[in-house]
Formats: sequence, structure tokens, C-alpha cells
Amino acid sequence: MPYGNPVGVYVYNCVAEERVPIILNDPKIATWYSCGPTVYDSAHIGHACCYVKLDIIQRILKNVFNMKLVTAMGITDIDDKIIKKAKETKTDYRTVAKAFEQEFWIDMANLNIEKPMIISRVSDNMSAVEKFIQGLLDSDLVYVTHDGSVYFDTSKFSIYGKLQQIQDSGEPSDQVKKNKMDFAVWKGYKPDEPSWQTTWGEGRPGWHIECSAMVSKIFGSQLDFHAGGIDLKFPHHENEEAQSCAFHGTKQWANYWIHVGHLNFKETKMSKSLQNTISISKLLEMYSADTFRMACLLSNYRHPMEYSEQMMSMGQEIINKFKYFLQDVHIYVNNSTIDKSTYNYKLLSSLQNVQEQNLEALKNDFDTASCINSMLNLISNAHTIMKLDTNNFYPVSVVLIADYVVDMLTKFGCKLKDSTEQAISDSVIDTLIEFRHTVRSNALKTKDKELLAACDVVRDKMKSMKVQINDSKTSSWVRVK
Ligand SMILES: [Zn+2]
Repeated sequence: MPYGNPVGVYVYNCVAEERVPIILNDPKIATWYSCGPTVYDSAHIGHACCYVKLDIIQRILKNVFNMKLVTAMGITDIDDKIIKKAKETKTDYRTVAKAFEQEFWIDMANLNIEKPMIISRVSDNMSAVEKFIQGLLDSDLVYVTHDGSVYFDTSKFSIYGKLQQIQDSGEPSDQVKKNKMDFAVWKGYKPDEPSWQTTWGEGRPGWHIECSAMVSKIFGSQLDFHAGGIDLKFPHHENEEAQSCAFHGTKQWANYWIHVGHLNFKETKMSKSLQNTISISKLLEMYSADTFRMACLLSNYRHPMEYSEQMMSMGQEIINKFKYFLQDVHIYVNNSTIDKSTYNYKLLSSLQNVQEQNLEALKNDFDTASCINSMLNLISNAHTIMKLDTNNFYPVSVVLIADYVVDMLTKFGCKLKDSTEQAISDSVIDTLIEFRHTVRSNALKTKDKELLAACDVVRDKMKSMKVQINDSKTSSWVRVK
């Protein structure tokens, strides 16, 4: 357990194998590093699940528990897979990495995921990587092999395997390594791969060292949260922890490991035809970002999540329930024919109960699913009263409930408003097109060239904003890609 100030929030810790209190050095400031993508291909729904769930946790820490979270993400832009892709497509590995990184940020923005405050690319941090490995060499914790690679000596780190029990696979150790679990922090020079010159030889960094070096450059010898998918727990995070503790001479480098469960596909026709993966852009053609986020909120972040059409319809249905409730509240408070309002103390106390329960649920390893369920119960009760109790009028009570629901869902990163915004912009476009149609019809009759030219300018400008106007007797328009 770290020294410092408990903040009253509990999180599952894989080292302790139980929920532990979050303790921060400064009670209001926390540092967070997420392992980012290896940018060699389009991001898929599995990445969406991981980063949306991490975004939800970060938002809870910031928006519910008022922590100042300093967030960083590492982008792996030098790696075997990127080099392979570059060879296959006969392009430079940097071009491959840049293109897919750009796409990644667009996907993240479309999922309403907040961008990390600090973005570190391996290619920009080669001197930090070199210094880190040099430090390990100086302390004799790594060794150089005949092919110019550098390996971490796990026998020099007595608590290797602290994140999980490491099982001996029984496979014979290869000839190069001293111990079976040793891993490469540096890969020796190969003629057809990018390489960097260092004091111990030419080559390129291993994957695990990249994160350790970048985190240490940004946050120093200790870090509060280190996050990623559960598949990174071993060997990636285990190795990061080992080499970072060794480098900094500490027993604990990352205080809290946040691991997000896998997203699995239910065996359906759809998943088979899509080869068990869906790109994020494809996902967002089918469902809104809010719908996917709601599906994530309903599943525990640590558990595997099973992707299915039913799961997504449920997400959509719940988002709609909240939206309909908000619309109904609006109509209820603005259109009531009852002159005298009353407080509904039963509703107000159930709101208070839900607020308290939800705070407890979030303190307990970010239990978002029970928050959503208790809010659904709350709005269902309010709905019933609004519909059936026609002799009384409770504007204050229902508005407070609506306000709380919007506040919580917004804190979780739901947008809620996209369809309303779309509706408003659609009616603005309708108005403009109608006006243009009238002007143009008259201009055609009077053969007013100036006005007709002005109408053409409007048409072209709208086209550049992805709105295509079709001129005929009745002017119509469509959104185009
Ligand atoms: Zn990492």
C-alpha cells in the first residue's frame, strides 16, 4: 500500500487480489498512464471497449471524486507489426504509423473519449529509451547477447511475477537467454529494419521498455494508475513493473493497475461474417457512441463483455428511456393545467437515496451498472407519478430528478443531446432551403441572373458542408458523405 492520503474510493488490485483503498500522495492529484495502440491497423471494437471503459473510470475520478487527473498515453509507433505492414505495403514504417495513429484519434473522438493530456510516441522518445536501458546496463540488471540484443535478467528482480502467478510452461529455455522469463529490452540490428545507434550497439527498442521509459520521463519513479486491456497484464505490464522498479530502485512503481476485461463475440452469423471483429467506424455506422457507451456502463469493467446485437439493442433502449423521460419532464413542467404545485417528498427522498447509493457504488470499484439500474428505477417511479397522479403537480421534484440523471450520464461521458442538435440543425437547413427555393423560383420567372448566381453560390457552399440540394419543383436536400 502506498503512503499518503486515502481518498475513500476502492479499486480492485491484481497484486493484492482484492479491492484496496486508493491512496494518493497528494489527495487531489493523480497520475494516469494508459498503454496506447500499436498503430499498424485500424482500431476495432475491442479497442473501443477498452478505451471507452477507461474513459468512464477517468471521468468518474475527475467528475465524481474531483481528482485532478494527469493523463498520458503511449503510442507504439516502432514495433514488429508496423515493420511487417510497411514491408507488405512497400511503404515507410513511419507513414504506416502516422496514418493509423491519425485514424485512431478520429475513432476516439467519435466515441466521445477524452484525449490524453500527454501523448508520447516512441519515435520521439528514443533518447529516454536509451537512457533507461543505459541505467539498467550500469546497474548490471540486463545483459547483452551475441546478436546485440539486450535482455532483462529476471533473476535479479526477486519479485518477478508480482502481478500474477507465473506458471512454468515446461518449455526449454532458448540458447540466448540466461533465464526462461528474461525478455528483450533491446533488439539487435537487422538489415531490413529501422535501427538506432547506441553506446552498446545498433538496434531498436523492445515493446515493454518503450512504455517504462516514456512513463518515467513524464511521471518519474512512481505512478498512481497504469491502465490497459487484461491481455497486457502479462507479460507486458509484469515486465514494465519489473524493469521500472529495477531502474528506479523501488519496490513499487505503478500503485494501481487497471485492467479492462476482453470483449468477446457471441457466436452469431454476424460475428462470423465479420470475422469476429468490427472496425470502430463500422460500429458507429450501426450504433451511436452513446449506445455503445451505455453497453459498457452496464458491464463491469473488469469482466469480459460479450458483444451481441441484443446487448447493443439494450444499450440503445436504455439511452432512449432516459431521453424520453427528459422530453416528458419538459412537457410535464411546461404544459401542466394544474395551477398549484406541490413537493413530492417521496420522490425527493428516493432521489436522495439513489444519489447516496450511486456514490457508494462508484466508490466500490466503479460499479456503473448498479448506478444505471437505480436511475432507471428512479425515472420509472417519476414517470408513473407524472402519468397517474393527475390531481397534483410536482415540477420541482421531477426537474431535480431529470437534472440528476443528465448530470450523472454526462459525467459518465454520454452526450444525450446529439439527436436534438441534429433535429435543430435539420430544421435550420429546411428553412434556408425553402427560402432559397422561393427566391430561385421567382428569379427563374423574371430571369434575374444575379439572383440565380447567388442561389448557385448557396448550393455550392452547402455542398461543401455535405448538404446536397436537389433543385426541382419542390426543392429537397440530403446529407452526403
Ligand atoms: Zn505499455
